[in-house]
Amino acid sequence: MPGFRRLYPPAVASGSRALWFVFHDADLVIRNGAAWPLLEGSTDAPETGPVATPILIGEFDGLPLLAGAWLPGALVPDGYETTGLRALFARGDEQMSALAGCAAQLLRWQRTMRFCPACASPLAPVSGSWGRRCTACEYSAYPPINPAIIVLIHDDAGRALLTTRTGWGKRYSLVAGFVEPGETFEQCVVREVREEVGVDVADVCYVSSQAWPFPHQIMVGFMARYTGGAIAVDHNELADAAWFTRNDLPELPPPFTISRRIIELWRSGGQTLNVERLLPILRQHIFSRRAEGIDCQRRLEGLDRVWYVAR
Ligand SMILES: [Zn+2]
Repeated sequence: MPGFRRLYPPAVASGSRALWFVFHDADLVIRNGAAWPLLEGSTDAPETGPVATPILIGEFDGLPLLAGAWLPGALVPDGYETTGLRALFARGDEQMSALAGCAAQLLRWQRTMRFCPACASPLAPVSGSWGRRCTACEYSAYPPINPAIIVLIHDDAGRALLTTRTGWGKRYSLVAGFVEPGETFEQCVVREVREEVGVDVADVCYVSSQAWPFPHQIMVGFMARYTGGAIAVDHNELADAAWFTRNDLPELPPPFTISRRIIELWRSGGQTLNVERLLPILRQHIFSRRAEGIDCQRRLEGLDRVWYVAR
């Protein structure tokens, strides 16, 4: 991330000025109406006064970046208000959202991971990391990050299979699910799609990922091509699943979510293709452009919406 450098315990903040993420329970304390979620202060405390469990997470634009928890029972003073992490995400500043998510996860880790889950002895820091090691039995642990896949299923007829859950109203999104032990992301995509909507997919293709600190996930985004089966909704997970064309999409998730970004990528022409399907398209493209005497290489580089999937 530009402007940000991670630091790990036992690093100490240098200088006198510092930037702070201050959390009131799960919410951030910000200046009234501020779009910027950071408070200023010294390396000892933010501008709002002392905080509990301060941690140094890195340097931002050369200044120490710290995070701390609001003191229990203290009132938020005039001139300040609280805002949720989701509201911060919705503002669209990806770097600040990611840093605030990082701060929230590390604060939660420091607060909750104090005793060994195996023998209940106190845990001690592992130098050079956020890890904790048991002082009695050597059990060690690091901040949890749970990977979950999220996948847009498309067919060859220009449709995408979207799903909705109870409580989502008219909004539809992508199939998603947690990676199980011993599973690759690609295997997880195939299994989750099969379990949740009953269809088969192939040509699973990575698109992008999004850190999702609710509470400590990373969403790993894919596209996959429908290969067969009728929709059979798992009603323990979903309220409905249906095919939609690009011109007939339902209400979608908000723009800052990876699900919406993948849907928009598909809406603008993105899909996965296996080699057998890709080569004829490339050959045709080369041939037609050669006939027109146009630089083939340059034209191929313009094909930024075709995914290449090795088999
Ligand atoms: Zn132990």
